[in-house]
Amino acid sequence: MRLRHIAKALPIIEESPFVEHDPKSLKGKWKERFGNDHPIHIEVGMGKGKFITSLAMLNPDINYIGIERADSVLFRALQKQQELQLPNLVLILLNADELALVFGREEVDRIYLNFSDPWPKDRHALRRLTSERYLNIYRQILSTAGRVEFKTDNKGLFDYSITTAPSSGWNVLDVTYDLHHSIYSEGNVMTEYEERFSSEGNPICRAVFTCNS
Ligand code: SAM
Repeated sequence: MRLRHIAKALPIIEESPFVEHDPKSLKGKWKERFGNDHPIHIEVGMGKGKFITSLAMLNPDINYIGIERADSVLFRALQKQQELQLPNLVLILLNADELALVFGREEVDRIYLNFSDPWPKDRHALRRLTSERYLNIYRQILSTAGRVEFKTDNKGLFDYSITTAPSSGWNVLDVTYDLHHSIYSEGNVMTEYEERFSSEGNPICRAVFTCNS
């Protein structure tokens, strides 16, 4: 994502009640934070937040946590949440490397990875959010029946991901190379990137990873 630095973003984020400022203190206690027993779904690399705010509006009985490491980008999601004030949505400024410090074992029921940075060079493969390094982190926080849902327009990243996941002990399900013309399109909520790439005629790839070990 091309980043335009927004100087006022960080001070506004730091003051916002819609952002969790000490997420590590909530490890194992997120249900208390939301004040209910609803499932917890997170989006890692949420970007400007269209996807997660839409899901939070559609599903009031699910708690959503939007995770983004770039403050100028999270700020755009925060602006949406400031308008919507959704009680079932919390934002966190965090690098995915730290997910296991923020969530306890089996605390998360679903992880969305949407249009993750592809890092095309082999020497950067471990930076991909579907590399074995990150899959091992997701395994620590996902519930037994939990799943990772992954969408991208980048076929190279997609093929890498659906190959890496099984070799890291995950099951790969519901694979499509053209989500919008597949049986999985019903109920699909588009992200900012998805809208842009699909309007340019690019097919969207999508797969689900589950892990029962
Ligand atoms: N998911 C959004 C969408 O589909 O429109 C944004 C996609 S954008 C290409 C990828 C986003 O992931 C960027 O906003 C980037 O800052 C964020 N990101 C990349 N690596 C991350 C990491 N390790 N931890 C948290 N966020 C990350």
